[in-house]
Amino acid sequence: MKCTRYLKLVSLCLSDGGIGFSSETKYLHFTNKSNVLLNMFKNEVRKFTSNKIHRQVKPRGITLRVFDRDLISELRKISPSFRTKPCNHFPICPVLKNNLQNEHKHIKLNGTIWSEIKIPENLFRNKRDKSEFLKIYISCDGYPSIFPRKDSWSAVERIVAIVCHHPILKKRLSQLMTDLKIPHTIKENSLEMRSKDKIEKFKKKIGFVDGVKMTGNSKYWEGLTKNEVLNKIIKSYDIKFISRDASYIINKLKQL
Ligand SMILES: [Zn+2]
Repeated sequence: MKCTRYLKLVSLCLSDGGIGFSSETKYLHFTNKSNVLLNMFKNEVRKFTSNKIHRQVKPRGITLRVFDRDLISELRKISPSFRTKPCNHFPICPVLKNNLQNEHKHIKLNGTIWSEIKIPENLFRNKRDKSEFLKIYISCDGYPSIFPRKDSWSAVERIVAIVCHHPILKKRLSQLMTDLKIPHTIKENSLEMRSKDKIEKFKKKIGFVDGVKMTGNSKYWEGLTKNEVLNKIIKSYDIKFISRDASYIINKLKQL
């Protein structure tokens, strides 16, 4: 049976959320700075439960939490775990620490322990669903980037990246990109698109959720939306940079 109705929630939880453990119970959580994504999480949760959504302000953004046993049980039928950082790194996975049974399985790769994560094929009805899933995922855990380069054949570096440390999840995300015929390179902690062809295909077939802004990590483009920066990247291919001076290049890019 298709479980597409959970598609958005699964994508949000795998990227910037997850299932948390408190003493006797479990909760679904999502942390973000983008109101667009926080509202999406709220709206998706509301499709399945009327339980209170708790809100907490943290340095990393706003954390939303909801306690609902049935919803968590349904989500865990889709993916046994939503933990994307290593289970044996701080904070140690409670399943590992307390030797809990019937939670998620562990996979050991080169001394690092990862939880079992799945993005099952029955989450999707068609390619449009896969594109929607990736759009949400990359709006949370991905970014476009364009900045001046010194000592390179190109005046600017252009990157669209999906950040992912979990090796099995990364492989699955790569497969979904391939299903959509978007060429990309698998890096240690990300999937990357750097060439014009790859970035144009990404924009045409996926793109970012409208209104999601760049985070504070972006040196030049803080305050712009991810789609605005993506558009700058595409437009920049038509620009001839007559100087390699960084402030000249940034100025040119700001005008796009
Ligand atoms: Zn674990």
